[in-house]
Amino acid sequence: MRVRTVLNRLVDFKGFVLVKECLLTMEGGMELEIVVRPRANARACCSGCHAPASIYDHQEERRFQFPALWSIPVFLVYCMRRVQCAKCGVKVESVPWAVGKSPVTKMLAMQLSDWAKLLSWQEVCERFAVNWRQVYESVKQVVDWGLAHRDLDGVEAIGIDEIQFGKGHRYLTVVYQLCGQTRRLLYVGQRRDAQALQTFFDAAGVLWCGAIQYVCTDMWRAYLKVVRENMPDAVHVLDRFHIVKLLNEAVDNVRRSENRELRAQGIEVLKGLKYVFLKRPENLTEHQQEQLQKVMNQKQLKTVRAWLWKEKFQLFWEYTSPYWARRYLHRWERGAMRSRLAPIKKFVKTLRGHEDLIINWFKAKKVYSSGAVEGMNRKINLVTRRSYGFRSFEVLKIALFHTLGHLPEPEVAHRF
Ligand SMILES: [Zn+2]
Repeated sequence: MRVRTVLNRLVDFKGFVLVKECLLTMEGGMELEIVVRPRANARACCSGCHAPASIYDHQEERRFQFPALWSIPVFLVYCMRRVQCAKCGVKVESVPWAVGKSPVTKMLAMQLSDWAKLLSWQEVCERFAVNWRQVYESVKQVVDWGLAHRDLDGVEAIGIDEIQFGKGHRYLTVVYQLCGQTRRLLYVGQRRDAQALQTFFDAAGVLWCGAIQYVCTDMWRAYLKVVRENMPDAVHVLDRFHIVKLLNEAVDNVRRSENRELRAQGIEVLKGLKYVFLKRPENLTEHQQEQLQKVMNQKQLKTVRAWLWKEKFQLFWEYTSPYWARRYLHRWERGAMRSRLAPIKKFVKTLRGHEDLIINWFKAKKVYSSGAVEGMNRKINLVTRRSYGFRSFEVLKIALFHTLGHLPEPEVAHRF
């Protein structure tokens, strides 16, 4: 059986003929080239609108990489034609095996993109003997298709978050779906300002925004304002995850400044205890539990007192009734204000500034699970922290949608 016969079974080369195959022996090994020509009498189609059009001219021969056969790289060789389209003007023709200017066929793009979900992009490069750019182009091809074909209907609860990336204080705005079976990334915007978020709401449309019942954000002021303006009827929630994070920061601030003071006097009692105070007690290792027990006896330490306030705050989340939750919150706040711990008092003031949104968490509790926001935040951070060249915003965006977008994928007759 000829290779061409197999290829014709895999890909619909409608309008084209595979004329011959050549096995080339080169320095680095073998390469299989398959020469493609237009079928006689078949008309070329415009890549802009896919309508048949008359030929304008022929371009130079191009090679399109196909999935390898027995580890032998396979290329389709073809002279692209340009067409004179009545609607689009002079355009390059559309071909069934490739998109745009990419030298990677749709089939190889699919294969690389599949593997890029399991391996790092660098590993995909090594495994398939392609360069980084080709992996990027492949993933982008699949992601772009997915974004154009995804369905945003039925979203009732969303989360909005700011994510730090790269070196320095660079932030992104991300929007994700929190309700239903799919928790997925819906949007990635450059920067974390009102405009970044508004761009998404404008694109999604007034009706889509009107259907949102729950919006979950952190305390970033720009987001609070945009949400209020675009979704005045939605229940706006400050999620537990963001508040716990803030309280942890307050405890850590107390620890850091106290540790500095003590070390100046040569006392090292707080040394190396950062995570002992930050982790949930049930997540501590045995060794850390012992460390905590030991330091707990020293009640004069500010850090110990701050930690105790944090633990007491934990009970707040156990409430189901918003009314009783609010009562507990007020009691905790009054006590914490007398703690003489500046970072804790600052935290109380933040709570007081956002009380209604915090209480809304109890109203939304039934809609999305309490770990949903934290889970998405962690997954997004995992992707952004990977160190293989997501330095530019565009690349990071594609990588995020690829792993977290739950996007539909193009049908390819045969999955490689
Ligand atoms: Zn056209």
